[in-house]
Amino acid sequence: VKHVHNAIADYQAPLKVNVTLSQHTYDVLIGPDLITRAGSFIAPRVRHKHVVIITNETVAALHLSKLQKSLEETGIRYDILKVPDGEESKSLACYSDTISRLLALGIERNTTILAFGGGVTGDLSGFIAATALRGIPFIQIPTTLLAQVDSSVGGKTGINSPSGKNLIGAFHQPVLVLADNSILSTLPRRQLVAGYAEILKAGVISSMELFEWCEKNGQAMLNGDPSTLAEGVRRACAYKAGVVATDEREQASQNGRALLNLGHTFGHALEAELGYDGRILHGEGVSIGLHLAMALSVQLGYAPASDLARLDSHLRELKMPTSFDWFKEPFSAKTLIAHMQKDKKIHNGKITFILLQGIGKAFTSRDVSIESVEKLLLNEGCLP
Ligand code: NAD
Ligand code: MG
Repeated sequence: VKHVHNAIADYQAPLKVNVTLSQHTYDVLIGPDLITRAGSFIAPRVRHKHVVIITNETVAALHLSKLQKSLEETGIRYDILKVPDGEESKSLACYSDTISRLLALGIERNTTILAFGGGVTGDLSGFIAATALRGIPFIQIPTTLLAQVDSSVGGKTGINSPSGKNLIGAFHQPVLVLADNSILSTLPRRQLVAGYAEILKAGVISSMELFEWCEKNGQAMLNGDPSTLAEGVRRACAYKAGVVATDEREQASQNGRALLNLGHTFGHALEAELGYDGRILHGEGVSIGLHLAMALSVQLGYAPASDLARLDSHLRELKMPTSFDWFKEPFSAKTLIAHMQKDKKIHNGKITFILLQGIGKAFTSRDVSIESVEKLLLNEGCLP
């Protein structure tokens, strides 16, 4: 035991972001090689030394053995439930199958779920934890950059319905988030870029300082530099934790959590048009969505054209999508607008847009006319 203890002490302490909500507080721990020490972070936070790991085949093949070893070293008993890789596992069928397998294990109120995977695994596992026995604890161990900076923080959990994405769900906060930056070394670059788009988004919404940090460090993050990754994840989590703390359940009509949707109205329309089969990743939609939100803000006279140029040059430098040309097919303005009008963020038939007065200065607006959106999309090269 002494030997193990010393080995642990040799590691650097992880970075920490505390999320403080009205009923609940938890830590996001960030750093390299956290999985190999997972047991030591988890043991003090579980009431019952039995956890159920929910993961998918891809992540399990690459990284599960390290997590298992660490749990074994700390005397935490575990079961493993695997789900198929891909967005399809956020389905009612997969939810039903997985929660049934969970209950068949004879779990107790104090059994903790470990969500070990990307945002898909986190959303599904979190919803299972929210509903099994009316709610059991869960821990997020996000393995994609997107999950580390976005989906694992904030407590939104859920699955998809035939009527749309994320329409079935619950707010259920984790008791701990372990963001291991080393685990990202196996992530394809395209997935890294998709996660990075959400970090950049946070800067564009409300922090010139974060945007400038991205300008200086974005390239190093995408190259997988460990300390830059840790710092970027810390900054993005601190930002999201702050927003979620002020508007836990997205009830603020102005600003608040809704601002996190910057770029998403456009992004979701593209995702809906291209389907969710990998032709566009969510973060790629967000990337072009950031460009479009800024371009619309310039067109409407809210933001200076120089900020659009600055944003675009950063996106282009990192080879991120800024225009419809990035996709090898034409889009119709009318179709994209129809998708926007079906988005669940519609209130009284009006699309809520997040606009910008410039980099770091986002605000919500319900006053954008369909004509101005159409004009923008045509200027950007869409067909009518
Ligand atoms: P994902 O979970 O599908 O992961 C992307 C791919 O990477 C998958 O094939 C996965 O198996 C693989 N993968 C995961 N970790 C890996 C690793 N370390 N090395 C190699 N491959 C790895 O997708 P995602 O982008 O992480 O998450 C998207 C989901 O998150 C969507 O369903 C979205 O709705 C949800 N989301 C939720 C919230 C929220 O607040 N709850 C916020 C944003 C997004
Ligand atoms: Mg998003």
